[in-house]
Amino acid sequence: MNLKSTRWNGVIDHYARFLPVTDATPVVSLSEGNTPLIRADNFVTAIGGNFELWLKYEGLNPTCSFKDRGMTLAVSKAKERGAKVVICASTGNTSASAAAYAARAGMKCVVLIPEGKIALGKLAQALMYGATTVSVRGNFDAALRIVRELGETGLVEVVNSINPVRIEGQKTAAFEICDQLGRAPDFHFLPVGNAGNITAYWRGFREYLAAGLSDRLPRLFGFQAAGAAPLVDGAPVLHPHTVASAINIGCPASWDGAIAARDESNGCIDKVTDEEILTAYRLIARTDGIFVEPACAAPLAGLTRCVREGRIPAGSVITATMTGHGLKDPDNAIKTAGYEPFVVDATREAVMQVIGL
Ligand SMILES: *Cc1c(COP(=O)(O)O)cnc(C)c1O
Repeated sequence: MNLKSTRWNGVIDHYARFLPVTDATPVVSLSEGNTPLIRADNFVTAIGGNFELWLKYEGLNPTCSFKDRGMTLAVSKAKERGAKVVICASTGNTSASAAAYAARAGMKCVVLIPEGKIALGKLAQALMYGATTVSVRGNFDAALRIVRELGETGLVEVVNSINPVRIEGQKTAAFEICDQLGRAPDFHFLPVGNAGNITAYWRGFREYLAAGLSDRLPRLFGFQAAGAAPLVDGAPVLHPHTVASAINIGCPASWDGAIAARDESNGCIDKVTDEEILTAYRLIARTDGIFVEPACAAPLAGLTRCVREGRIPAGSVITATMTGHGLKDPDNAIKTAGYEPFVVDATREAVMQVIGL
């Protein structure tokens, strides 16, 4: 008997014809992509909506964020060119991903992170994968400026999303959504930080339509945090601040791409407060059992507000990217949960007492 293998070999293998690779490209993959698209009816009910909501759970990538889609391509192309060192600035997830793919490629990895501003799980990842981890006294934007300057020396390969192949890899998430839904959504919601992902999704949805593999273009609704909302305010933010560390960025590298995605899709980019973010962050865990990191809750908070304002037609099909896994940021999770474990003596009676039996 000859059974057909359904093994998934990563986004380059699956979507090669849409990506800048050839047979000569040495593919560095951790089998990223193919993440679940999970329907979240309970959340929709809780916010008073009347539509389908599907969450693209990118926290189930190999380093637990969507960054792996772009990183497989960035590191493969760097290897193809013979690069020995990759470097990035990161609010955490890019560094985790770069460190993992560089380890697999046998390359040295250097990551610059803003001191004291990255979630604990992400720091653990960079260190475990063996990246040279440099904590910069400054914010993400300052770290990215240094990385750009180092890139100009030609001695290192920059794998931030200013590297155009990152965006190419990330667009595969839009392809997967169309493949999984059997159509494109009416709306796609996502968080916006450096704005590479909103740029990538718009490219992906357009390319799939042009290839005859989907039937429409969604409206893209991006959300920034109120303390780091340069695209909404129309000017860079010098001292960005938000609990959602992954989108704590004052001067997005893909500024123009984000504005084009917004305008061409008849979409919007808006901002939500940290309080709204934390409310949605806890709600999606409680209603649907989906644990994400705070940045992912920005689009959920935005959706909540859109429902309240009557901006979502009944029966719409909506997708949203849950960009990173909840376990990345245990500090915020424990704080936001709002309660602590009961501590009791090791007896049946003591346990029965606290659970009210
Ligand atoms: C990188 C990241 C974002 C922001 O994506 P951009 O492409 O920079 O806009 C949002 N959420 C998480 C979890 C991320 O890692």
